[in-house]
Amino acid sequence: MKSLAPPLVTASLVFLLLAAPAVALDHLVIKHSGGEKRVSGKIIVTAEDGGLILLAANGEQWIVKPDELVRRTSDEKPFEPLDAEAMGRDALGRLPKGFKVYKTANYVICYNTSKTYARWCGSLLERLYRSFHSFWKRRKFELHEPRFPLVVIICSDAKTYREVAQGELGGALKAISGYYNLQTNRVTMQDLTGIESLLKLRGRSVTTKDITNTLSRPEAQRMVATVVHEATHQIAYNCGLHERFTDIPFWVAEGLAVYFETPDVRSRKGWSSIGKINRGRLYQFRRYLKGRPANSLTTLISDDKRFSDTKLALDAYAEAWALTYYLMRREPKKYQAYLQMLAKKPRFVWDKPEERIKEFKAAFGEDLKKFDADFLRATRKLR
Ligand SMILES: [Zn+2]
Repeated sequence: MKSLAPPLVTASLVFLLLAAPAVALDHLVIKHSGGEKRVSGKIIVTAEDGGLILLAANGEQWIVKPDELVRRTSDEKPFEPLDAEAMGRDALGRLPKGFKVYKTANYVICYNTSKTYARWCGSLLERLYRSFHSFWKRRKFELHEPRFPLVVIICSDAKTYREVAQGELGGALKAISGYYNLQTNRVTMQDLTGIESLLKLRGRSVTTKDITNTLSRPEAQRMVATVVHEATHQIAYNCGLHERFTDIPFWVAEGLAVYFETPDVRSRKGWSSIGKINRGRLYQFRRYLKGRPANSLTTLISDDKRFSDTKLALDAYAEAWALTYYLMRREPKKYQAYLQMLAKKPRFVWDKPEERIKEFKAAFGEDLKKFDADFLRATRKLR
């Protein structure tokens, strides 16, 4: 997930959540990229200093600092999310030439790959979507349908991916082959198999058989995991498991995405493999255990620093997976109550480390040392 650094906001800034009138469309003129830009939607947060968050009809959230706001007007038109048709047009308008739209029940897929490939991805995403919902339904966690069609952009090669993602990822572009952007609400990825570029070179088009053959190679599983990981973030933030721009600790958001990362893509029935041991992450965690600092649990839960440090990130993801796996198995009720509490937190307020720890203790017990010992004991037994 690509998370934006908390914008214009610190914990000391008090945000007022506006009870927005049911019918009203806000129009802003804002300073943007050296010029002015007009954006319309619904203002969902107003800061004391005059900063605003506007939710646009395409699901984007615009963060407007006080000195960026040029003009603000409103009318009585109701706010309505774009439908799939309009969402497709909107997304194409932001992409380089050559992209097309393929729609499924919940997704608007913009692709410049072959249609076969887009269709294959659509079916993978829909299976994930259904499995995700039934997973939580079985656990009696109420999710809702997404308010906006879910936009996923698939680029056939590194060149178009660079063009599309450069502005959002900047320097991190090389290291990231797919991401979910909380602000735009879109997932962007490269063709996960590399098959498109290969077959283009050979001058023939892709068949479903080609895709299946490619995915049966062990190295392809990692690539599928990337798609599933980012798509999991998108579903979680659109269906009520998390709220965008609330302070969801990274160990929670990433731990969950990694927990869902273990699909059996060959299974036609869907995802019976959700929650299977994630071998790669377990292996990484075992290696980390050899030198795991005594305060590892505390640093994992108190802030998100370990996830954004390239030297520490892999171990942090592995530990987040292990902790999520442990809580799902051993403390499912407490874990769910904790998730529900997080989803209800106010938007754009970022907790201090002490508050994160306090909430963790309130959910899972005051004695962190004992918790850590139990967690490690159970995780060491995993085979
Ligand atoms: Zn992630």
